[in-house]
Amino acid sequence: MSFDLLIKNARTRNSIEKLVDIGIEDGRISRIAAGLNEKADSTIDADGKLVTESYVNGHLHLCKVYTLTMVGQEALTTYQGGSMGGAMTAIELAAKVKEEYDESWIIENVRRAVKLAVKFGNTHIRAFADTDTKAKLEGVKALIKAREEFKDSVELQVVAFPQDGVVRDPGAEDYVREAMELGADVVGGIPWIEFTDEDSQTHIDLMFNLAKKYDRDVSMLIDDAGDPGLRTLEMLTVKTIKEGWQGRVMVHHARAMQLYPEPYFRKIAALLKQAEIGIVSDPQTGPLHARVRDLYDGGVAVALGQDDIADAYYPFGRNNMPEVAFLAAHLLWMTTFEEMEILYDLITVNGARAMGIKDFDLKEGNKANLVVANARSVWETLTNHEAPLHVVKDGKEVTGR
Ligand SMILES: [Zn+2]
Repeated sequence: MSFDLLIKNARTRNSIEKLVDIGIEDGRISRIAAGLNEKADSTIDADGKLVTESYVNGHLHLCKVYTLTMVGQEALTTYQGGSMGGAMTAIELAAKVKEEYDESWIIENVRRAVKLAVKFGNTHIRAFADTDTKAKLEGVKALIKAREEFKDSVELQVVAFPQDGVVRDPGAEDYVREAMELGADVVGGIPWIEFTDEDSQTHIDLMFNLAKKYDRDVSMLIDDAGDPGLRTLEMLTVKTIKEGWQGRVMVHHARAMQLYPEPYFRKIAALLKQAEIGIVSDPQTGPLHARVRDLYDGGVAVALGQDDIADAYYPFGRNNMPEVAFLAAHLLWMTTFEEMEILYDLITVNGARAMGIKDFDLKEGNKANLVVANARSVWETLTNHEAPLHVVKDGKEVTGR
């Protein structure tokens, strides 16, 4: 017996005191034990460093990366200012850049961002492409191209996302349909941006029709403004259960959750669990955020996302998920050792669960998507959030690709 890849002297989150070896065969973890002596085609000596699952980024507007200087500062200050009262206006301002949308320049920005993902061990990304009457299919085409180019090192799940609404933007629905024909992976949505509750419901229904027709998962930006009366999370959850789409729907942002009355929040948390909906929060990109810790404690598949990289909504970002967790530690006040472990779950196993990635946890028989951190503990990894020393995707080393 021999391995394709053998990681020696690994410290795992479960084996802090003793080091183990991890044998990988046909893309999967075949053995975890101390002192494995089998031959291997290649060997990595982890030298006592922390080895964990690779990082998962549940939400990234990948078509917009590095467009901040094209858009200017106005949208950014409008989105974040005044307790997010102007979030809708910000989206309208940011939409201007889409008049310039062209696959040829978008793909260059996308490559730059995805290369950073590889560097920082971020192997799975749910990547949103604006798909509407302004962006047309330019973003989707760029992301599908990048998905193929990087498929050995990063899994990009391409979401066709009608950023400016469906009822508000007649024609957007057709572009989302065309995107499905082109091979986009996920049907997007942003029902809260419609002007009435009736239109929000129509938005959800139309996008679900497409999801069912093409047998695709659903990812929607939900209740993303400073208004406690927003109810599209509830609408989507009810729809998910009604259509039997449990385990196939993700929600993003849900920042108004922080303002929901407590009894209403508790109902929503119960419904999310019932609908098996994954929820991704990005507390670093806006002044409000979903109630991450309460959702985690309630057993909801909650995770963290990068959300933006240098665009109209957020000026920083580099697809470094331990950096996102480090920021979240402050914004969510999760600073005990126990909470650091939770944060680490939110960028690894919980992200995978939210995104429907199977067999992801570091154990025998599962897929070998791993990082060798440049650190010996979760605490040190979050503190320094340095690039990992080694990145393994589906059993192959992809470090520095
Ligand atoms: Zn977002």
